[in-house]
Amino acid sequence: MSELEKFKESVKRMVDEKRPLLVEIARYLYENPELGSEEYKAFERLTKVLEEHGFNVERGVYGMPTAFVASFKGKGKGPRVAVLAEYDALPGVGHGCGHDLIAASAVGAGIAASRVMKELSGEVLVVGTPAEEGHGPSAGAKVIMADHGFFDDVDGVVMLHPANSWGVGGQSLGIHQLEMVFKGQTSHAAASPDRGRNALNAATLCYMATHMLRQEARRDANLVIHGIITEGGLASNIIPDRAVCQFGVRSSDEKYLVEMVDKVGRCAEGAAHALGVEVEVTKRKLYSSNKLNIPMIKALWQNYKDLGAPVKDWQESTKAIPMASTDFGDVSQKTPVAGSYIGIAPEGTPGHSRQLADASMTKEGLDAMVVGAKALGMTLVELLARPETLKEAREYFNSH
Ligand SMILES: [Zn+2]
Ligand SMILES: [Zn+2]
Repeated sequence: MSELEKFKESVKRMVDEKRPLLVEIARYLYENPELGSEEYKAFERLTKVLEEHGFNVERGVYGMPTAFVASFKGKGKGPRVAVLAEYDALPGVGHGCGHDLIAASAVGAGIAASRVMKELSGEVLVVGTPAEEGHGPSAGAKVIMADHGFFDDVDGVVMLHPANSWGVGGQSLGIHQLEMVFKGQTSHAAASPDRGRNALNAATLCYMATHMLRQEARRDANLVIHGIITEGGLASNIIPDRAVCQFGVRSSDEKYLVEMVDKVGRCAEGAAHALGVEVEVTKRKLYSSNKLNIPMIKALWQNYKDLGAPVKDWQESTKAIPMASTDFGDVSQKTPVAGSYIGIAPEGTPGHSRQLADASMTKEGLDAMVVGAKALGMTLVELLARPETLKEAREYFNSH
């Protein structure tokens, strides 16, 4: 048995040994769901457990009270590798996104990897990233950390997300948000329509113009444009002087996304010009798309495979049409990453549902979390014990 294999065996044993603790953590989060930026109970529990296991824990990083960085140093200087924990819940459906299992698996992977660190150089990090669902001041914590340069000093990052099938490496959509505020002039809609300037008409024209943009969408870039009109007047006999639209624009191609966000903005400007009203367009980038890193994906995938998990071929996962957006995308733009998903519920179970939350507490769900914790832990030690993988990952990152 090679040294790396011995390390991996040790990770597996340690995760099994810690299973009762990991299950208890998952159950505690499940029973105490907290919205993003308010995950104080989860934060206390996770940081305490990591500290008890010898991690050095920095609490409340980058001004986010429920974010943390827990680190465990090896025998000497070397690469820094990280596993990310999420622990925010959703309104109404508790842990309907399964973040209770993300937290438990990250703690399990981190603790298991730390046990072989006396024989390895480098550092293992368990990073607590709150508010993935976008609630409160710490919304999209990974973006905040990425913008502060935190991930520039991390050499490889792994994590998992519960789902209804198994896979490693998927794309996600970058997303930008636009708000358009149209300002016109009120007037009596029957007696003096000629003296009004109709902000709602401009908003409607803008809404229709964005529809027409879809016709020229690049088919390989997974463009999605979704919008609503949030304000459109106060009474039907008054020509509205104010109307507001909100749009989300998403794509798996970062450059193309910026181009399309500009075009959607121009729809507002053109409509305002046509109707003789003013418009103010505010653009905000929310999340980046996921930059795939094939060497990282292959390493994590192989570990799932070796554990007997029914993972799809990674080629299939990386080519699947991206459905959603996540702040993990912003991490992937800074350093090599591999994301994975574990099957905890029957095919067809909707995400963000009570059913998915409950699935996280079934034997199937908890078994999947344990397999995931092992695969993540094995990958962390592999990245430290086998420098070629990180080298290949960095080269791939720089050339794509
Ligand atoms: Zn979610
Ligand atoms: Zn989620």
